[in-house]
Amino acid sequence: MDIESFLGRQANHFVKELIREGLNVKTPRVNFSKKIRKLTLIVQRNRCNHCQRVLDVVNFDHIDGNRANNSYSNCQALCPNCHAKKTRRK
Ligand SMILES: [Zn+2]
Repeated sequence: MDIESFLGRQANHFVKELIREGLNVKTPRVNFSKKIRKLTLIVQRNRCNHCQRVLDVVNFDHIDGNRANNSYSNCQALCPNCHAKKTRRK
């Protein structure tokens, strides 16, 4: 086997691996930074952004539904109830 076809084979293998991983690996659950979460709670006065109830359990929600967008403007704090309702709507 010459070097070119050997490398070609390796590259093929590598691409196949990448595709397989890409298909299997779920989008990692990235989240908002500590700073953003803290700021969100302060701005919302520790209340749910939907029902305005005081939060004991806080769910941080991506407003636009895009988990890769972890900017402050995309962050809201919800109670588990409202968060579940929102998630179900999607
Ligand atoms: Zn709520």
